[in-house]
Amino acid sequence: HAEPLKYKSKKKADKNDQEKQYVGFATLPNQVHRKSVKKGFDFTLMVAGESGLGKSTLVNSLFLTDLYKDRKLLNAEERINQTVEIIKHTVDIEEKGVKLKLTIVDTPGFGDAVNNAECWKPITDYIDQQFEQYFRDESGLNRKNIQDNRVHCCLYFIPPFGHGLRPVDVEFMKALHEKVNVVPLISKADCLTPSEVKKLKDRVREEIDKFGIKIYQFPDCDSDEDEEFKQQDKELKESTPFAVIGSNTVVEAKGQRVRGRLYPWGIVEVENQSHCDFVKLRNMLIRTHMHDLKDVTCDVHYENYRAQCIQQMTSKLTQDSRIESPIPILPLPTPDAETEKLIKMKDQEVGFLKD
Ligand code: GDP
Repeated sequence: HAEPLKYKSKKKADKNDQEKQYVGFATLPNQVHRKSVKKGFDFTLMVAGESGLGKSTLVNSLFLTDLYKDRKLLNAEERINQTVEIIKHTVDIEEKGVKLKLTIVDTPGFGDAVNNAECWKPITDYIDQQFEQYFRDESGLNRKNIQDNRVHCCLYFIPPFGHGLRPVDVEFMKALHEKVNVVPLISKADCLTPSEVKKLKDRVREEIDKFGIKIYQFPDCDSDEDEEFKQQDKELKESTPFAVIGSNTVVEAKGQRVRGRLYPWGIVEVENQSHCDFVKLRNMLIRTHMHDLKDVTCDVHYENYRAQCIQQMTSKLTQDSRIESPIPILPLPTPDAETEKLIKMKDQEVGFLKD
């Protein structure tokens, strides 16, 4: 079936036209890509939850690194008056030439003391401090090399043995939900049977709704995405809170070496999707939603902080310009008598003009 000659030449002409009209901004995404790869990426992840829930094990399993080589575990007596500490671990990881500076913010001691009232306070303070630092840097003179330490996501570990959320879980998530993207996890899910996992997930979801907790919402899927992606996205949304299992050991299962936990009755495989949601969590955090987590941090949480800060500053300024403000503000010159007279005169002139 040869195409008619007329049609063929028209096509050629169209192509020529197109080439003539090609300015080149279609390469913009490539330019951005090159630049960001060169600059490298950073991501700050916070883990929170009582000690012993498997936080360190999960982080090691997620990033295949040993971030906790020199951790000191406290005994019960030491933990009675334990205050919440904030510990930062940073690793540089590289994959196929793409560099990622990963910071894990650990919160040992959370929920460990006998009296846990307001035990989330050091954590919210830490998040605020990072916002404050960023705000200062952004308003300062040198904005070129700002170190961004804002927390992009907080994995909150819920114990598997309860009947849903405990008061401390509700308090914690409510204290943080407007400052950071909270992703709740059911830890040590190998302690539960599949039906128990389902029941606990339903319960936690119900309670999250009931108490008005705003956990991180996965963005809606674009309608032009392919079906497979849409299906994955749907499964991801239905799986929250992710039920996870961590392990620092590699075991042999069905002739293959896998990360797992060896029990007398069998092997629990961390990366087996029928055993737990570990892979879903890892894909979400790293492959599909890392950028969105950063965007939401910047556009929603930081923006709220910034707006509040500016509001406070302006209201304080109107009260008394010398009161200490959370960030250094350039002192507004207080007009001297002479200037004030001049301003008054100008105002009057404008008034006359209006009349
Ligand atoms: P962290 O204090 O929250 O950092 O907890 P760790 O990661 O130190 O884990 C505490 C204990 O729980 C260790 O003995 C781990 O081997 C064990 N553990 C960690 N993850 C899991 C899990 O998914 N399932 C089970 N059953 N045990 C786990």
